[in-house]
Amino acid sequence: MAAYKKKSTGKKKSTGKKSAGRSKAAKKPTAKKTRTGASQSRSRKPHNYCTLPELPERPLEALGNSGRARLIRISDRKWVNGTHLHYYFFTNSGWRGTSTERDVVREAFRRWKSVGLGLEFSEVDTPHEAEIRIGFQRGDGAWSYVGRDVLDQGVNDRTMNFGWNIANEIDTAIHEIGHTLGFPHEHQNPNAGIVWDEEAVYAALAAPPNNWDRATTHWNILRKLPQSEVSGSDWDKDSIMHYPFEAGMILEPSQFRTQPLVPAPGLSAKDKQWAKHFYPPLAPNDYKELKPYRSVRASLDPGEQLNFYVRPDATRWYDFATFGFSDTVMVLFEEIDGQPRYRAGDDDSGTRLNAHFEERLFAGRTYILRVRLYWQNRRGDFSVMMW
Ligand SMILES: [Zn+2]
Repeated sequence: MAAYKKKSTGKKKSTGKKSAGRSKAAKKPTAKKTRTGASQSRSRKPHNYCTLPELPERPLEALGNSGRARLIRISDRKWVNGTHLHYYFFTNSGWRGTSTERDVVREAFRRWKSVGLGLEFSEVDTPHEAEIRIGFQRGDGAWSYVGRDVLDQGVNDRTMNFGWNIANEIDTAIHEIGHTLGFPHEHQNPNAGIVWDEEAVYAALAAPPNNWDRATTHWNILRKLPQSEVSGSDWDKDSIMHYPFEAGMILEPSQFRTQPLVPAPGLSAKDKQWAKHFYPPLAPNDYKELKPYRSVRASLDPGEQLNFYVRPDATRWYDFATFGFSDTVMVLFEEIDGQPRYRAGDDDSGTRLNAHFEERLFAGRTYILRVRLYWQNRRGDFSVMMW
């Protein structure tokens, strides 16, 4: 599975690399467990928490335009809307879950889909067909790579794990899928205004069942996310992406000095709203036809997307490119048995280059091109063409 690689050449080379560099730099998740469902929270057992793989932030400061860097960060791990994501459950003994657990994960995908997203989810039988590869290795914690970072993982590697029995913890599955869709931890939202009793947090997480070192606790709880990575909205303490916390770990808001913070079960209203912001439902009239040599100029807001059908009448190599001083991710899918399958992609964000790739297309087949705009220098100075 190829990633939508960032440009690796060009003047701003240092800002451009994402795909390969990140995965090599990734620290494999080592700590031991996840967010509990609310049911477990109420039972006063110590919480198991999710541990995200540690990946470096893309260095975008060199852009010298904080608005541009902010707009790139908002979308840069998100999928293009309309992506059909395939998930696979490993069957080897170390990574195989129970049939009940697999059903819990299937139901969690349905919960996300029922929000009304433009994304699609299907289970597949082989790992190389799957963007999302799920294991149930006991003791390895619950985690997922975030958004398109899953594309940087090897075809025999997990992109998501459940480290203990989740038969009664659908919220844990919804939470991990939320990461796969590109959503970070809400308790790390810099808008939350949370003031931690940091030593109390370190101490609580150093104890079983989590047994985290200080670095893991910092990465997953205390570290504030860049402003741009979060929804930009207010703190949503009921988000599925928020951990529960025992009384005394949070100093401000002050009521949590004496009472636990327990997110409401399931997806919150803001979770749904924000997910639909990135992945709105797609209707037939959201698609246009893209013809060779006919440039389509578009006036988009950052985060908006163009969707095209491509129906070539000749079998040959074609070029696809964006034009203009803009940052985009552009992805081509081929419709195979009614499902769009990834064919090619490019992401020029943070560089002076444009998105561009070549693909050999076949007459009589149907392709779908999707182009999401991160940023443009001036509204309307942006177009797409194939030739
Ligand atoms: Zn998490």
